[in-house]
Amino acid sequence: MTSSPVFAFEPHASPVPASERDAALLDPGFGQVFTDHMAVIRYSRERGWHEPAVRARAPLTMDPASAVLHYAQEIFEGLKAYRLADGGVALFRADANARRFRGSARRLAMPELPEELFLESCRALVRTDADWIPSGPDGALYLRPFAIASEVFLGVKPSADYLYMVIASSVGAYWKKGAAPAISIWVSQTYTRAAGGGTGEAKCGGNYAASLAAQAEAMRQGCEQVVFLDAVERRWVEELGGMNIFFVFDDGSLLTPPLTGTILPGITRDSLIALARGRGLVVREEPYAFDQWRSDAASGRLREVFACGTAAVVTPVGTVKSGGGDFEIGGGGPGQTTQALRAALVDLQRGAAPDPHGWLERLT
Ligand SMILES: *Cc1c(COP(=O)(O)O)cnc(C)c1O
Repeated sequence: MTSSPVFAFEPHASPVPASERDAALLDPGFGQVFTDHMAVIRYSRERGWHEPAVRARAPLTMDPASAVLHYAQEIFEGLKAYRLADGGVALFRADANARRFRGSARRLAMPELPEELFLESCRALVRTDADWIPSGPDGALYLRPFAIASEVFLGVKPSADYLYMVIASSVGAYWKKGAAPAISIWVSQTYTRAAGGGTGEAKCGGNYAASLAAQAEAMRQGCEQVVFLDAVERRWVEELGGMNIFFVFDDGSLLTPPLTGTILPGITRDSLIALARGRGLVVREEPYAFDQWRSDAASGRLREVFACGTAAVVTPVGTVKSGGGDFEIGGGGPGQTTQALRAALVDLQRGAAPDPHGWLERLT
């Protein structure tokens, strides 16, 4: 056992006044309101991870030849701290994010940040900026840990230096139209997201950069999100640009595509599988073909579809559009199983339901 790493603390000299902060927290939206501080840890080949600190959030000064700006050697995470029903503050499954961050680092040929440093950076920042958690029902502090290649060198090789940071954003509901509106999704037959041996299961900015043209295509088609098919047969449903997907059938069972290397292993996905099984529901992790999806929707065998992820929690899918025509799921609105699982997850995250798996880590 090593003791907890100690983060130097340099408080912000002129934090946002409480009145201004509270006004910003009334309707924060997603990813627009940022807290006063950030956590920083540097890495160099000689010194390893060093100088952990929490300090005032401020712009970075970077050399224009920093490797990340050219070759996108970057990984990130997304997790939330919640205000509990009793007024305390807790992180949800941050240990799983710490583990996934190490996996992403391995794939991007970056040094692995020890899990305890990841966890302590999140804890220290949340404790410092806990007043930035909005009090609304969807309010949370969204933490964005990330690491970038900071070596000043244009040769193509893994960087020798890195910068790890955590910033925090006060968030409300992800969607402008409310907490869990039914969204429409576009099945891209033009683009794929990931292929075997690629970076599909790593959480890296490059995956998102490559998905934006598909997302733009979805928006041109009047859809909120894109859903990707596999890169080999263009047949098997994989996931959305930043969310995993579940299908609910008329016998009450659920299905989600298996983690075979091209899908991001979502922690929300994993949590919902456990919660559903805990309620006695059958959950299969199996491939699901797009033509099957269409025929199951037509026959009524398929009752509900939802997308899930930390940012947007659980979002019902009401309409599916593709080059081959459109179809609706279960009348286009949110289904019962979707709503029940969403409520079960949200209640657990906010300390309003038992936590049998020990997923919450109370900080205050
Ligand atoms: C982050 C992410 C998810 C959701 O993961 P959670 O851990 O549930 O937030 C799903 N798909 C992609 C591509 C992602 O980047």
